[in-house]
Amino acid sequence: MNEKIIQHSHCSICGKAIPFSEMFCSEECKVKYASMMKKRKIVIYTMYALIGVIITLYILTSN
Ligand SMILES: [Zn+2]
Repeated sequence: MNEKIIQHSHCSICGKAIPFSEMFCSEECKVKYASMMKKRKIVIYTMYALIGVIITLYILTSN
């Protein structure tokens, strides 16, 4: 029996083994993750804005 291997997860930031219900090993990693997500959101919004500008320019120049 493999009862010694309990279900566990890994910290989304540093990869440390943590209890299955947790996402992070510490408050520090939680904060790091939050700021990472914030940056990612800004990048995604910037990309959408750029796509919007490209489409607008394309429509304006094709007529
Ligand atoms: Zn961690």
